[in-house]
Amino acid sequence: MDTAPYVARGPRAAECVADGLWLLRGRPRDTLNVYVMGDVLLDAGTRHSTRRILRSVTDLPLASHVLTHGHMDHMGASHAICEQLGLPLLCGEGDVAAVQSGGREGLAQRPAAMRLAHRLVAGPGHPVAATLVDGEQIGGFTVLQTPGHSPGHLAFWRERDGILIAGDVLFNLDPVTVRAGLRLPPLTLTRDPALNLASARRLAALGPQVVCFGHGPPLRDPDRFQRFVAGASVDAS
Ligand SMILES: [Zn+2]
Repeated sequence: MDTAPYVARGPRAAECVADGLWLLRGRPRDTLNVYVMGDVLLDAGTRHSTRRILRSVTDLPLASHVLTHGHMDHMGASHAICEQLGLPLLCGEGDVAAVQSGGREGLAQRPAAMRLAHRLVAGPGHPVAATLVDGEQIGGFTVLQTPGHSPGHLAFWRERDGILIAGDVLFNLDPVTVRAGLRLPPLTLTRDPALNLASARRLAALGPQVVCFGHGPPLRDPDRFQRFVAGASVDAS
């Protein structure tokens, strides 16, 4: 587990992961990750994350709210935050319908456990102001389209110091025990596992020095990341 201290600069109650990149403090720590990436608020936890996010970022000069993808544990507070802070909401094209419906599209056909989880943690949908595509710059990072976990999943890459925000292409957390550790995202929550693995390989090929995740602490061990992706297969997830 990473032991970098939380520091009170940039957003309140946040860990400075790298120049211009902060990970907001959550409970349990590093479980539902929300970042400030330059002038961008990236992801927004569940609807129960609303107060802690607003407390952290209210005084910051944010320009937009961006989603790695349109799942309920990443966009639960998005509507409230965009309304309160007057921010436009951006995501990948393939996730627009999910984001705008608050994950309600097709929910009736999902397993009962998924419907229950949605009732417990999801927030309302919110209009998407614009979509992001491969190669675009935002918050000091380059947008990478990394479909698989969701159709419109996005990752963010900063070449000058090798910082990667991988979203949910990989987890650095066991979702059941909440202990840190690299793994592929759960198959039941991943639209196209083989495509997601191809996205993971694309990210590993960049040779990132620090990898940030939707779930789990930042990983500052480039070799471990490379070895994990090289050995990963969809069957083994
Ligand atoms: Zn997630």
